[in-house]
Parts: sequence; C-alpha cells; structure tokens
Amino acid sequence: EEEEGFAGVADTDYAEEKAIKLSQQALQDVRRQFGKTYLPLVNGEYVQTQDFVDSVNPSNFSEIVGKIGLLSVEQAEEAMKAAKSAFPAWRKTPVKRRAEILRKAGDLMEQRRAEFSAWIVLEVGKPVREADAEVSEAIDFCRYYADEMERLDKGVNYDVPGENNRYIYQPRGIAVVISPWNFPLAIACGMTVAALVAGNCTLLKPAETSSVIAAKLTEVLVEAGIPKGVFQYVPGKGSQVGAYLVNHVDTHVIAFTGSQEVGCRIYAEAAILKPGQKHMKRVIAEMGGKNAIVVDESADLDAAVLGVVQSAFGYSGQKCSACSRVIVVEPIYNTFVERFVEATKSLNIGEAELPSTQVGPCIDAAARDRIREYIEKGHAEAKAALEMPAPDNGYFIGPVIFSEVSPDSTIAQQEIFGPVVAVIRVKDFEEALEVANGTNYALTGGLYSRTPSHIEQAQSEFEVGNLYVNRNITGAIVARQPFGGFKLSGVGSKAGGPDYLLQFLEPRTITENI
Ligand code: GLU
Repeated sequence: EEEEGFAGVADTDYAEEKAIKLSQQALQDVRRQFGKTYLPLVNGEYVQTQDFVDSVNPSNFSEIVGKIGLLSVEQAEEAMKAAKSAFPAWRKTPVKRRAEILRKAGDLMEQRRAEFSAWIVLEVGKPVREADAEVSEAIDFCRYYADEMERLDKGVNYDVPGENNRYIYQPRGIAVVISPWNFPLAIACGMTVAALVAGNCTLLKPAETSSVIAAKLTEVLVEAGIPKGVFQYVPGKGSQVGAYLVNHVDTHVIAFTGSQEVGCRIYAEAAILKPGQKHMKRVIAEMGGKNAIVVDESADLDAAVLGVVQSAFGYSGQKCSACSRVIVVEPIYNTFVERFVEATKSLNIGEAELPSTQVGPCIDAAARDRIREYIEKGHAEAKAALEMPAPDNGYFIGPVIFSEVSPDSTIAQQEIFGPVVAVIRVKDFEEALEVANGTNYALTGGLYSRTPSHIEQAQSEFEVGNLYVNRNITGAIVARQPFGGFKLSGVGSKAGGPDYLLQFLEPRTITENI
C-alpha cells in the first residue's frame, strides 16, 4: 500500500496576538525558575555531584539560567554499567512500544512548546522565532524516527522456492550522544531518540552551555516512559566524561555534532580497539562548514540579498549551515556588496527575547573572543565593508561584512561560527564553482541564478550535502531536506532522512532451507 508522506508540525504564528502573549508569559515563567540546580540522571535517579557549572544567559551574562551538576568519571562508569544491564530488556522491547515513547515525547514538547522555546531563547540566546522553529524540529524528529523505525522493523523478505531469506535489523548496543549548544534541543533530541528507537541504550552528554535544555529534554523522556538505564543524562566535561565514554570498551555508537577538531579526534579514538572489545564502533560525526552562496549575473538580486542576510546572520551565524562566503561574479559584484551592506544595516541587534531582535548574542566569552580575532585577521586580509556596533551587557557581536576577500585567506577558509561574512569577487560562473569547492568542507551551499545551465551545473558540481537553489541555505526541515555534509563536514549521515536510523542498527540476514 502507498504510505502517506510525513507532515511536520507547524511553527507558531507570531502574527497572532495570543501567540505573542503566550511567548512572553513563558519567558517570565522560565525566568522565575532561573538559578535552579540540574543533576545528572543515572540509572533512573538524579545523582548528587561534586562539581557544578553555571549556565548563563548570553544576552545578559549576569543572569544564571541554571546550575549544572557535572558527572565524575566514576559516575560515568556507573552510568555505563546501568546502560549495559538495561540493554537486554530494551532490545527486546517491541518497536511499537519504543515508537510510542518517542511519539509521547513529541506530544509533551508540543504541549510545552512556548516554555521550551523560552528555555532556548534564554539559555543560548536564540531569537524567539528561530527557537520556536527548533522546537518544531525536535518534535518532528520524535515522530519521524518513530515512523522510520516501524518501517525498518518490517524487514525485507527475499524468499525463493525452497529457501526463505529474511533481512532484519537489530540494535547495536550502547550509544553515546555528544550534542552541540547551537541547536540545544533539536539536535540533542534527534540524535538521542534515533539511538533509542533503534533499541540502543543511550547516554546524552550535552555541550556545557546548553545543559539546562538537555535537562528539560530529560524530563520529557522520563515522563514519556523511558525505562531506567535506557536513557541517561550525563553532563560533564568533554575532555573527561566525554572522552571516557568515547573510549569505553562497551560503547558501540557515538553520535556527535560539533567542531571538526573534536569530530576528527572522536573518529580516531573510536577506531582503537580496547582490551576485551569485540566490536567496531560506529561514529556519526556531523561537523562544520564554510558554506558559500554563489550569485551569478542572472540572479534576482533582491532575493539573493535577502537570502544571504538570513543565511549569514540568522542566530548570529552560529549554525553549521550558515553562509560565511558569498561568491559574486564581476558584473554585479559592486552592486551586490552595496545592497548587501544596506540590507544588513537594517537588522536589529539585541537581547534574544525581544520580539524585534533579528541578531542576538554569541554563545559565550570564548566564542566572542575567537570571533573578534577572526575580525582582526579580516582587517589585515580584506576590506571591511560593514562593521555594526553591538551592546556589551551580553556576548554580542554586530554583523561584519568583508569585501574583496581572497579565496585562500583565513577568513575565507576557516569556520568562524559568528556573524562574519566574506564576499569574494570572481570573473565568471566557472570560477565561482571552483572557489565554492575550494575548502575542506562540503555541508550547505546556495546558488542564486535564473540560468538553467548554471543551475544544472551546480547540481552536479557544487560539492555540498545540501544544495539550495534560489533560497536561503539554513533551516533544513525533517523529512523534507535531510541534513548533513561530507568531506570534512561529516561522515555523510543525513539527519531527518531515510538512511539516518541505519547507522544505529546492525543488519542481519537469516536464511532457512525449507
Ligand atoms: N540543520 C540546521 C540547518 O539546516 C543546522 C544544524 C547545525 O547547525 O548543526 O540550519
């Protein structure tokens, strides 16, 4: 029978007054809970810890969003043991039941949508609309991976006369999820529920700066009925707890989203067999990008300018999908830069919770300082076409546009992860594609063009996991734009796509002579 297509949940319509009220109420409610302590969840219990770290509001760093109890390595070992003993029952739990838990988690997040958005806004400084879209993505991941696992669970029959052949999938074992702060709910949730629904016991180690949201996700999974030991929330230092779990003899799958440096290290460490280890670890690594949008002379410039502004400065450029290079052909270069600068100047920079804010803060002091260093480099390498001022009560950086950037310069090659864009001049479309492909990354890319032959050529030659033609290059939607890159952007896994769960599963063939 024909399956119906997956339909994602709708974002909040902030044109409705009711929605704005609800959002403001939620921000107030969340603020009243500021400063609470969140403890790790090990074997079904919230456990006391020796060390704590504050998670602050990046829009106003005098506000402490929550105090996070950090797991010790000894406690991480207890969590591993608990996962190991929970596995036999979880792997036997029918897929229907596992999927039901995911759907319940999705429903709970939908009911608490305004509250979850508020936590995102206040813990990682993401403007309200983008935070709301992130909640949608998290809900979609739950529902989509539930459907997907039910599809895969049917297996395949390759029967011939005299012989039955069954192709089936089984879980791998224990999954360690290491999630980033930039999509603190959606990506943490997506990697986690994928691992769980596939039948793996899962440990979630979130980025330190987004541990409160991960604690909220934990509440939801517990309320949805996840058994003890099957899911555990293990906040801790990446260099200690993260490294310990990656290197653990009982880890089967590592799902990581973050920097290229850490991703490559995990990949290497996971390849080393530990004493007594009888399996090879599977690593799912989604890393950075140095994403380009190409604008040719046939482009609709209004659309191109808008798409570049959204792609480059949405969430202050802190998406691995963000546009950080614009490659423009000679005949329209000057006009494009002029209009890009004008459009950017009109952006409102401010606290993430204000409805008028389009560009909020960066995540923390280290990120702000690193971005500033890149801006310094940019001044030495290129021409600053625009540098916008920003408030200093939070980790703000105003949008920066560099023009006349050489394709090989530092700011055109390294991922900055901030609101800094390099505009590169090329003589023609051929050169544009060459420059676009001239980095170590292959994540997202865009083309603004009304020339069919260029669009066709980009489809085959623009080396990216997600190519967007005549639109912005961020905001991939579950089951519509499966998301992920290759080259040094990642292992080619596609979150929100039909192949994603396969990475958490071990396929088997059973042949019976009859
Ligand atoms: N999936 C997100 C997007 O399409 C980006 C995820 C990330 O930054 O890791 O914009």
